[in-house]
Amino acid sequence: MFKLSKKVQALPPYLFLEIDKAKRKARAEGRDIIDLGIGDPDQPTCGFIIDALSQAAREAANHRYALDQGLPVLRKAIGDWYKRRFKVNLNCETEILPLIGSKEGLAHFPLAFLNPGDLSLVPDPSYPPYKGGTILAGGKPYMMPLLASNSFLPDLRKIPLSARKKAKIIFINYPNNPTSACASDDFYTELIEFATKNKIIIVSDLAYSELTYDGYKARSLLEFPGSREVVIEFHSLSKTYNMTGWRIGWACGKAQLVAALAKVKSNIDSGIFSAIQLAGVAALRGRQDYLKSTCELYRQRRDILVDGLNRLGWRAIKPKATFYVWIKIHPKADAISFAAHLLSDANIVVTPGVGFGQHGQGYIRLALTVSGERIKEALGRLKKIS
Ligand code: PLP
Repeated sequence: MFKLSKKVQALPPYLFLEIDKAKRKARAEGRDIIDLGIGDPDQPTCGFIIDALSQAAREAANHRYALDQGLPVLRKAIGDWYKRRFKVNLNCETEILPLIGSKEGLAHFPLAFLNPGDLSLVPDPSYPPYKGGTILAGGKPYMMPLLASNSFLPDLRKIPLSARKKAKIIFINYPNNPTSACASDDFYTELIEFATKNKIIIVSDLAYSELTYDGYKARSLLEFPGSREVVIEFHSLSKTYNMTGWRIGWACGKAQLVAALAKVKSNIDSGIFSAIQLAGVAALRGRQDYLKSTCELYRQRRDILVDGLNRLGWRAIKPKATFYVWIKIHPKADAISFAAHLLSDANIVVTPGVGFGQHGQGYIRLALTVSGERIKEALGRLKKIS
């Protein structure tokens, strides 16, 4: 047998693949599974975006290798969207880089700045590629606990001097997966000060910025003073426009950081299929009313789920953003055994919090990506086993 590289051996198993295996096995046994596990929107991509793809796919010019830096028309649409949404001006030539989904950009970014022994400051729990990308780049993740007692924000003051000195990158993701927490302006201000003082790049992941409820509006870190020197921000069309399978997102911010990521990527991939880039333009420039209805749909589901769970005595909290509900099961309960119990006894898939890091132990994550009717059915099943 061939021996895996040390870096690949050091990677944790990818959580969702394991869950998917268990789910597929249960389905193959003919069981009616309600999947509240992976965060993949159940609603279709809007028709006008599909039309734009279909039209662009017929053009022979779009069948060739795409430009590595993304089509100028897409970069301009991203720049205009940013200005409209956050009142932030970006240089479309140097400060925006389209990505084949934000995941690849987040995972590739550490390659541009980490040397062996360097650290990334990674929230625990968090989206797995922050840690995986750091390990693949030869760096070491330094885990920052996200605790309920600190509103699921990392306590920057607790990061020791030794870690600050070796850290090159800090990953931040608000609205947050998996906790659904949102960042305060004070936290962002403190974060920029911390990063500037310690010469650490802030990687801000805004994948869920548009899925917000009850009047809450997520902010971009690039709106804050001092951010333009230290921030690269990652966005995705996946959750905003129900386009997870299409693979399109972008990075933006400080030109040096964007150029470094572009250099890494130019050695790895050859850009996004141009027809998908043009569909992305349609999404960003087209009518945004269905985003409102998407948020309203998740809000309704959130209320059905959280109110229903609380009636069962679960103490769930309504998130004001993302489509996740993060629930404490029991201080000592093992999240993996609890998730296995829900799958075997109620045919419900949830994600054990510990899969996002050890501080996720004692929590499970439920995704609002099934219909209200199925959520009611899940609540009925939970009632039976409680
Ligand atoms: N960031 C976070 C926090 C996520 O949860 C996800 C997907 O689940 C992504 C980024 C990746 O999104 P995509 O690669 O589809 O753009």
